[in-house]
Amino acid sequence: MPDTDRVIQRTASVEERVDAVQAALDERGLKASEAVEELGHLAQETWIPENGARVIARAWIDPEFRKRLLANGREAVAELGLAMPKHHRHLVVLENTAQVQNVICCTLCSCTAFTIIGLPPDWYKDVEYRSRVVRESRTVLREMGLDLPPQVEIRVWDTTADTRYMVLPEQPRGTGGWSEDKLAALVTRDSMIGVARLGAP
Ligand code: FE
Repeated sequence: MPDTDRVIQRTASVEERVDAVQAALDERGLKASEAVEELGHLAQETWIPENGARVIARAWIDPEFRKRLLANGREAVAELGLAMPKHHRHLVVLENTAQVQNVICCTLCSCTAFTIIGLPPDWYKDVEYRSRVVRESRTVLREMGLDLPPQVEIRVWDTTADTRYMVLPEQPRGTGGWSEDKLAALVTRDSMIGVARLGAP
């Protein structure tokens, strides 16, 4: 006879399982709750797209910085006081032009240069996006609201553990002479992922 009680026993929710693991670690003095709280704080206050936006705005107004950024992203963002985890060994900055649209993804999971462009949005982690943006990028971008003319080449870049990407969008028309702060306010997370372009303000 099957043990029906056991068969219908429900599986604990993700939240319940997380709480249980955290409590078990806390009990052993491993301070999981503190670490989780600190991570939450970093994610909300420190790893934000405004970091990347500053980088982009600086690249638009300072051609020498732009060159350094394209040559070695990790070193260039450090000039602005922005740090990356040790295992993000390379930050490769991809320059969009009128003819080229760069798009980033992580086909395996959800990697991004999160300290610079912010934590990945839910759709970025979705298997739909991860698999389809590679095979049918033009269609996926159109579904996301970016309808590119056929002459624009789309380049999709697959993130790895040690190589992180960010897209350098084109400076919107009509913003010449704007201050760095004002320009930074125009830059969106999606434009640094490459699924959006920045329109004229
Ligand atoms: Fe990943």
